[in-house]
Amino acid sequence: MDKTTGHEKKDNIMRALKESGFRMTKQRDLIVSAILEKCDDPVPPGIQEILSKVQEQDFSIGMATIYRTVEVLSRLGFVSLIDQGDGFNRITLAEGKITIHAFCRCCGKSVAVPEENKLIDAISELAHSEDFTLIPQAFRICGLCSDCRDSDVARDLPGKRGRGAGRGCHCKRRGQD
Ligand SMILES: [Zn+2]
Repeated sequence: MDKTTGHEKKDNIMRALKESGFRMTKQRDLIVSAILEKCDDPVPPGIQEILSKVQEQDFSIGMATIYRTVEVLSRLGFVSLIDQGDGFNRITLAEGKITIHAFCRCCGKSVAVPEENKLIDAISELAHSEDFTLIPQAFRICGLCSDCRDSDVARDLPGKRGRGAGRGCHCKRRGQD
């Protein structure tokens, strides 16, 4: 992550937390830093990864504190929690906007959505035409990244026509071994 942008994002989050009446503790500071850093990874982090990251610096921070902070950040629209189909929530940055989160169902990697803003505008306009205003949220699109699509691991996934389609995913991440 670009350093300046990273600092700005963190300042915005810390300011919003303060304005919402949350005490600015050293622990919360570490958690927000860890979230911003880990959310830059190709595969969005889960709570456990944030916990490991903050415990590198402060072992007294527990899972409950992370959950509470993430829940508050989600309520304030700074992060979205997305279940990528592996049964637990991953944290993605939302920054109070509508976003589209596309990810590979096999390896979990986030994939850039071309012309994301145009898509969001189109969805917002359609909603608006029904007198419905969208609130900040992350739309979830799952698929296969180019690496997985061409690998043996994904050969049985739907979308890989022929070659045994429909037998379900056998990659490790889906835990069906
Ligand atoms: Zn993949």
